[in-house]
Amino acid sequence: MATIGVDLGGTKILALRCEDGTVVARHRTTTPRTPDGTVAAIHEAARALGLEGVEAVGVGIAGLVRWPEGSFAWGPHVAGSDLPLRIELEGTLGVPVVVDNDANVAALAEHRLGAAVGYRNVIMVTLGTGIGGGIVVDGRIYRGESFAGEWGHMLYDPHGILCDCGKRGCWETVASGPALVRLAREVIELNPDSSFAVRFADTPVTGEAITAAADAGDEIARGLVAQVGAHLGRGICSLIAILDPEVVVVGGGLGSVGESVVAPARRVAADCLHGSAHRMLPPILVAALGPDAGAIGAALLAADHVEGVSEARR
Ligand SMILES: [Zn+2]
Repeated sequence: MATIGVDLGGTKILALRCEDGTVVARHRTTTPRTPDGTVAAIHEAARALGLEGVEAVGVGIAGLVRWPEGSFAWGPHVAGSDLPLRIELEGTLGVPVVVDNDANVAALAEHRLGAAVGYRNVIMVTLGTGIGGGIVVDGRIYRGESFAGEWGHMLYDPHGILCDCGKRGCWETVASGPALVRLAREVIELNPDSSFAVRFADTPVTGEAITAAADAGDEIARGLVAQVGAHLGRGICSLIAILDPEVVVVGGGLGSVGESVVAPARRVAADCLHGSAHRMLPPILVAALGPDAGAIGAALLAADHVEGVSEARR
């Protein structure tokens, strides 16, 4: 079966064409800044991969998605609100379309094909422009009434900085790509002669570049990533208190999210776990599918829809 999966994040759009479970083509572009652009960009991404033989298109989008209608209600990192994406795309593409939250489909992909294979109850934390979340319960995406898992916007610090969502002190203000960039800019300003500042003299300060520097052994970059990792761990600890998952998977587009950020998160989560003397911390694993997880999951959801798997639409 051929399907197309599209992951529309705060900065990038990744579309994959999958045939019988294998990725055969990919298309990347930047996320537009207008509502019309959002719809057009998904349309273009799907067409760029070729619709011939495609039985369904799945879309994961960063923000609040009404399920099962597939309308994009709103999100702080994507232009537009109350966009009837599924209906519009079905009209222009001429194939069935399913639209879900990007982290929900990333969680589905990691559950079926990635780090959480073999686990029934999974929570996924995606780090990128913000923090996304997906919940898999007994092998199925749990959506609540539609919007479950938006823990990037759980209140972390009532005195914290303003979030892109308009509220103050959300978790993602301290544990995301932009949080890492903010910390890095402070360090560069305070220590303009440091090796870290010199490294970024001609290179844009991005979350990806900072995590790459950390992975390459830069001590300052490692320290900054560890700070973000500690905030990540505290938030994950709260999620464990609420949901008691079998496994936690951390992934997303923040560079190659790896042990440099997940190891400190694991240590902090172990420290702050409620009743830690009497329970085990669930495994906190690095995602296996990397930045492709959302697009792969969207393609999987599209295939589920074609095959009539009940969770694709109620
Ligand atoms: Zn927020």
